[in-house]
Amino acid sequence: MAYDREKQIAIESALAAAKLCEQVRGNIPPAMEKGDKSPVTIADYGAQALICKVLAEAFPDDPVVGEEDATDLQTPEMAENLTKVTNYVKEQITDATPEQVVQWINQGNGKVGPRYWTLDPIDGTKGFLRQDQYAVALALVEGGEVKVGVLACPAMPVENNKPGMLYVAVRGEGAAMMPIAGGELTPIKVVQADDTANLRFVESVESSHGDQDRQNAVAKAAGITEPSVRVDSQAKYGIVASGKAALYLRLPSPKSPNYRENIWDHAAGAIVVEEAGGRVTDINGKPLNFADGSKMVDNRGVVVSNGIIHDQVLSALQSFSS
Ligand code: AMP
Ligand code: MG
Repeated sequence: MAYDREKQIAIESALAAAKLCEQVRGNIPPAMEKGDKSPVTIADYGAQALICKVLAEAFPDDPVVGEEDATDLQTPEMAENLTKVTNYVKEQITDATPEQVVQWINQGNGKVGPRYWTLDPIDGTKGFLRQDQYAVALALVEGGEVKVGVLACPAMPVENNKPGMLYVAVRGEGAAMMPIAGGELTPIKVVQADDTANLRFVESVESSHGDQDRQNAVAKAAGITEPSVRVDSQAKYGIVASGKAALYLRLPSPKSPNYRENIWDHAAGAIVVEEAGGRVTDINGKPLNFADGSKMVDNRGVVVSNGIIHDQVLSALQSFSS
């Protein structure tokens, strides 16, 4: 099968990262602040180190465009935090040194090119800190098209089992999910038109990451009468892909009109939804651009749906201007 090795390595590394994140989460981590004031934790760094190490060994020529970078972690004030990150990494790579950890994290400083990986080691760090949803998100992009995507969502409820669900997709081969605690990959599909019980919509918990008033108005206009389910991270894509919601709206926040979405916040989720039969565009119906840089400068917001209601949602959007 095409991309079989990439898929296996992506799953293996995302599971290793998810394990590290859950160990950190069990110890309720204090957040550090990055230059842009966004939070980062020991687990963001540790997860990026583990995944970049595995990718560098398996695919030495592939750049990785990761969210984190070890510059801050290398400063003398952060020495204690670097030791903590290294100790968590050592749970899985027993002889890891702080120097190696820094080097692995910085392997995520690659550039967007003809073939690259993009990684958000913890998407939804705010959710992670609140003990809510978060995702380890890893995707392979070739020729501007996402070819493989893995979303590990360690806090996702699983029926009759421990929490934790992994979603995976390969272009042209469909999407599947598997409990992180163990089990088989099961194919997943988006909500069908007659499945009214699952015709709900999801949006971010963080009101500043979207426009919740407009999101609610548009969902109503598209026939969704239930209030939204608020979920952190790309776990929202997993929820749409597995047929638990028909729509995920991420409309630009009026408070940050110049915000542009990052490729690592959407690449893995987008392929999982598309391969489950859904559709992903920006608010103008344009495909998300994974070809040109880490920020999707020509896209505005994101609309994710089961496909069936997509055009209706896009036209409703026009009538609720921001
Ligand atoms: P979510 O959990 O869906 O709110 O998504 C978390 C992601 O939102 C983070 O990884 C950030 O990259 C991203 N983010 C930060 N600020 C904004 C903003 N103003 N608008 C949209 N997304 C944002
Ligand atoms: Mg993110």
